[in-house]
Amino acid sequence: SSAKVGFVGLGNMGGHMARNLMKNGHPLIVFDTVPDSMQAIKKEGATLASSPQEVASTVLLEQLASVLTGATLASSPQEVASQTNLIITMLPASQHVLDVYTGSSGILGSVQKGSLLIDSSTIDPSVSQQMAEESTKVGATFVDAPVSGGVNAARDAGLTFMVGSPDQSFGKVKEILDKMGKNVVHCGSVGTGQAAKICNNMLLAISMIGTAETMNLGMKLGLDPKLLAKILNMSSGRCWSSEVYNPVPGVLDGVPSSNDYQGGFGTALMTKDLGLAQNAATATQSPTPLGSLSHQLYRLMTNSGYAGKDFSSAFQFLKQQDKK
Ligand code: NAD
Repeated sequence: SSAKVGFVGLGNMGGHMARNLMKNGHPLIVFDTVPDSMQAIKKEGATLASSPQEVASTVLLEQLASVLTGATLASSPQEVASQTNLIITMLPASQHVLDVYTGSSGILGSVQKGSLLIDSSTIDPSVSQQMAEESTKVGATFVDAPVSGGVNAARDAGLTFMVGSPDQSFGKVKEILDKMGKNVVHCGSVGTGQAAKICNNMLLAISMIGTAETMNLGMKLGLDPKLLAKILNMSSGRCWSSEVYNPVPGVLDGVPSSNDYQGGFGTALMTKDLGLAQNAATATQSPTPLGSLSHQLYRLMTNSGYAGKDFSSAFQFLKQQDKK
């Protein structure tokens, strides 16, 4: 039978990932800080969303309760580590990873020798390296395995994992990640998965802003947005942001821009990733002028009511700055 897996962080991404492990026959022991607050909210009579666009972590946890039949609920990351030697974490940012691994009821407090700890959160590469050092001290292996692909890819087991791990651990890492993704790429030693991820997201942010301002200018020059997108996508301006995830409402179906920028990849999370890229650029003295400007634009958006909207709302934000 398949190995028991510990899963910490059952949010927009982790909820789906955990479910795919269950589908593959892995018994799960899970922990998230949300269940308590969810019970409280429920008692107060809050309504839980039902549309796929409203996949808040609370909703997913509700679904998990029914779909993840047989998953054991743990009361702390430490309890997860005492029950299994294979653990996956999917948390918002560096601070949460520090808490979950090295906090007072953290994984490293009870980790079993020989355990494999896989962190799929997007965090600072230096924090991944720090967690790997701490893990080595207690006889466990920590690897970073951030993902690309959004919530739908998580649901459909179509994620790409970028893995930073010792060579000898990669086979075992790939074996489990294959059940949640379609590509598992070994990037090098611990921290290099994060490096690949934050480089990708810096380019994504730059190309999204570029697409948004291009579309806005073209529309103001009298071009139909669908026609302009079509021309860009058969020309040298073509990119993922124009072709697959166009930020202008109505150009594509089934993307956040055509659903009031709900769901998808939040502007606050993109801002976090751009901050990580800027930290890395500072540490390596690399000039990243457009990465820096993108960080500031997404920071402005995050502070102006766009934090929870998909990052393609850069188009809406720019439109608001148009001369009236
Ligand atoms: P999320 O906020 O929806 O989920 C994070 C979960 O972690 C929440 O359920 C939260 O309650 C839980 N959590 C926080 N602190 C905890 C703790 N101390 N112990 C246990 N659980 C805790 O975030 P998400 O969208 O699932 O993203 C997770 C990570 O993946 C982020 O680093 C993000 O940048 C990255 N990512 C997201 C996407 C996307 O499209 N959403 C795509 C690629 C990568």
